[in-house]
Parts: sequence; structure tokens; C-alpha cells
Amino acid sequence: MDTYAVGFARPDRWSSEEPAHEAHPWHAVEAHRPPSELDGEIELAVCGAIVQIWGTQKWERVGAGRTACPTCQEVTAVGKTLTSAR
Ligand SMILES: [Zn+2]
Repeated sequence: MDTYAVGFARPDRWSSEEPAHEAHPWHAVEAHRPPSELDGEIELAVCGAIVQIWGTQKWERVGAGRTACPTCQEVTAVGKTLTSAR
């Protein structure tokens, strides 16, 4: 079972990269440790973005929302998991 931590795109990266990222600041990060232990760390999201771990958030919830990175959603298939579960 894969575990994903939630990462928040760093504001200082938004200005130099695509402005579109601003609408989808949440990314998934492969968690090799419990997300709570990774809280605050800078990691590479599954889509390649540099993000800061938000250990208190759960990707299963955040990733299904509209503000989550579409690429990360696709890689983790978070939306499909939720849809099939309901
Ligand atoms: Zn992403």
C-alpha cells in the first residue's frame, strides 16, 4: 500500500514558475515515513514540484479536492480510489 504525504507548493516558487500552479498548490509526496514525521520538510512531489510537507493533511482528502495538482492526482489515482469506494 502506497502512502502519500501532502506537500504545499512554496510561494517563492510560484513567481518563477507557471502561474497555473497557484491554483493547485497541493501535491502528493511519496512517504517513506509517517507524514507526521515529515512535517515541514522540503521534498520532491511525485510530479516533480518542490513542496513543503504538510504533515497534518491527508492526501486521500486533499488530493480529491479541486486545489490539488492534477498530475499528482493522476499519478496517485486518488480520485479513482475515492470514486470506486463510494
Ligand atoms: Zn504535483
